Amino acid sequence: MLELASLKQLLAQPRKVVITTHHKPDGDAMGSSLGLYNYLIQQGHHVQVITPTDYPDFLAWMPGNGEVIIYTDHTAVAAEFVANAELIFCLDFNTLSRINELGELVRASSAVKIMIDHHLDPEDFDDYRHWDINACASAQLVYTFIVNELGNKPMINKDVATCLYTGIMTDSASFRLPNTTSDVHRIAADLIDAGAVNWHIHELVYSNSSESRLRFLGYCLSEKLEVLPEFNTAVISVNKEELEKYDVVTGDTEGVVNYALSITGIRLAAFIVERTDKVKLSLRSRGEFPANEICKKYFNGGGHRNAAGGTSTSSLNEVIEQFKLILPEYKKLLIQ
Ligand code: 5GP
Ligand code: MN
Repeated sequence: MLELASLKQLLAQPRKVVITTHHKPDGDAMGSSLGLYNYLIQQGHHVQVITPTDYPDFLAWMPGNGEVIIYTDHTAVAAEFVANAELIFCLDFNTLSRINELGELVRASSAVKIMIDHHLDPEDFDDYRHWDINACASAQLVYTFIVNELGNKPMINKDVATCLYTGIMTDSASFRLPNTTSDVHRIAADLIDAGAVNWHIHELVYSNSSESRLRFLGYCLSEKLEVLPEFNTAVISVNKEELEKYDVVTGDTEGVVNYALSITGIRLAAFIVERTDKVKLSLRSRGEFPANEICKKYFNGGGHRNAAGGTSTSSLNEVIEQFKLILPEYKKLLIQ
């Protein structure tokens, strides 16, 4: 592991830097990546943000967004940036499998690798780690990295602040999750003081849906929601044909699972969706219920206690059945 002093020394002169984040980036993935990008470019570094896949339009407005390369669209260019990088920042993920084929390129690169993340069970591929599972967002950790570790609070300008605020806002479910501590609110206040326009960011992210997205949500709630009262669990599942019918695009399914969890008494909610080559599960839970344990044990996934995900190569109906068959194992926790 690299010492902080050595990392500071490395960053003291312009470097070739790559910033990457997880597959299907969410608000925290993009917010932390572009927040760090906007910080590093002020110091003359050559910085390239590379995402493994595309991301929703409601996240494609942050300062620096125009400079992002999507790996699946530009594999050769992205691979060259990774191969030539002197430093690679890995944000909001901690196992290289979370960035698909990009993972092996990062592993093979001789660059110094810096992990900034808040997920459990980090893989040992990095040279420097700013990691805290109690952080509500990786964007919060980018803030503490810049302010506490690098001692550079004055360089949190409007662009940096806008991106970091977006990451914190989205990963804390708008300052609602239990990890939204007073420190998080103090950081958010600092970011507003530095130029983040909080009400506008909320509008850009949450009041920016296409008509078809809203109709798809309505369909999920009225036709596809299944409540299992004996397990305090709610499930919404959709197949490929339904995705096509509603012109569902990247990001449109995000947040649907939260509606299922918002029913009084529900402790576990699942959104199960049939993708081209696999079935994807998103689980959300309340309180102590370990949604990540189910994802890790049964669905090749993981995540946080209250927000986790996984995948399966079985058919959609098999996955729905499998999920329901798991519930008796957790009945005690679910009906507490
Ligand atoms: P989502 O349901 O929004 O896709 O994912 C919720 C959280 O679960 C993510 O922030 C991430 O931490 C985790 N997660 C989702 N899918 C996977 C996966 O396939 N593997 C792992 N390890 N974590 C996942
Ligand atoms: Mn995150």
